[in-house]
Amino acid sequence: MKTGGGSFLYHLEDNQVAVGFVVHLNYKNPYLSPFEEFQRFKTHPAIKGTFEGAKRIGYGARAITEGGWQSVPKLSFPGGVLMGCAAGFVNVPRIKGSHNAVLSGMLAAEKVADAIAAGRANDELTSYEEAWRGSDIGKDLKKVRNVKPLWSRFGTIVGVGIGGLDMWLNTLLGFSPFGTLKHGKADYATLEPASKHQKIAYPKPDGVLTFDRLSSVFLSNTNHEENEPVHLIVGDAALQQRSEHDVFAGPSTRYCPAGVYEWVDKDGNAAADPSAKDVRFVINAQNCVHCKTCDIKDPNQNINWVPPQGGEGPVYQGM
Ligand code: SF4
Repeated sequence: MKTGGGSFLYHLEDNQVAVGFVVHLNYKNPYLSPFEEFQRFKTHPAIKGTFEGAKRIGYGARAITEGGWQSVPKLSFPGGVLMGCAAGFVNVPRIKGSHNAVLSGMLAAEKVADAIAAGRANDELTSYEEAWRGSDIGKDLKKVRNVKPLWSRFGTIVGVGIGGLDMWLNTLLGFSPFGTLKHGKADYATLEPASKHQKIAYPKPDGVLTFDRLSSVFLSNTNHEENEPVHLIVGDAALQQRSEHDVFAGPSTRYCPAGVYEWVDKDGNAAADPSAKDVRFVINAQNCVHCKTCDIKDPNQNINWVPPQGGEGPVYQGM
């Protein structure tokens, strides 16, 4: 109840189902595993029957930019703009972003057409930057701006309840008694030392409803050439061991949905035990599905995701 999140289940054509699970990355417990939570979600009695006799055909993961109204970065730069989810236009309580992605594409196109008509090129499209808050995108995001900050502060039941009330006030009166709330700490700073938390005993995958990471990653069709430069850069290896492993018990082995990171002992076996000293950090970069979670959640901001060589990464089909 202290960790925000959500889920979706869509019935598609040809008897297909798309199921997904969201975990807000400002969680505190380093033992939490978004992947395992997703597996557990599929065993919930309300939806479990949907998957009976079914076959997995795809898998993927992505960090969603959920900060909304108060977190949207500068959107224009010489020769280009940020749009859609890259700009952070997801409406969190409505669990949708495609509408704003389409609207931001249209808004940008209008401003580009104006610039071309005025004989401009390669300069900064500041008119797009200036227009979005007054557009339908801004109106949509402003009304819901306090939901996530309230959720983070007061937990799922109370926080979402107050957030709902705040949305009513914003919609009916165009006003919030809270003004615009801040989100608080960055996601990497919310993680607490492992000593403050209990390990979470996730059940082993049954191969029917629940699966392991590696067989899931296989279905993402991710591909990186074997000898290419690693695109996941650890800034300070000693800090990674001293802090990420020794203090936080290796959360990268759990938050990564693709099993890229491992702490292994001298025999190459998994060793996430904070008391184990003779360990080394292994990065299976070829499995990366480019979700960017490590760049966001590493407690020391010590992992930097950089684009790998062109065209590589997951090849999602039907997702
Ligand atoms: S290595 Fe990082 S970007 Fe790649 S799948 Fe794991 S968490 Fe996501």
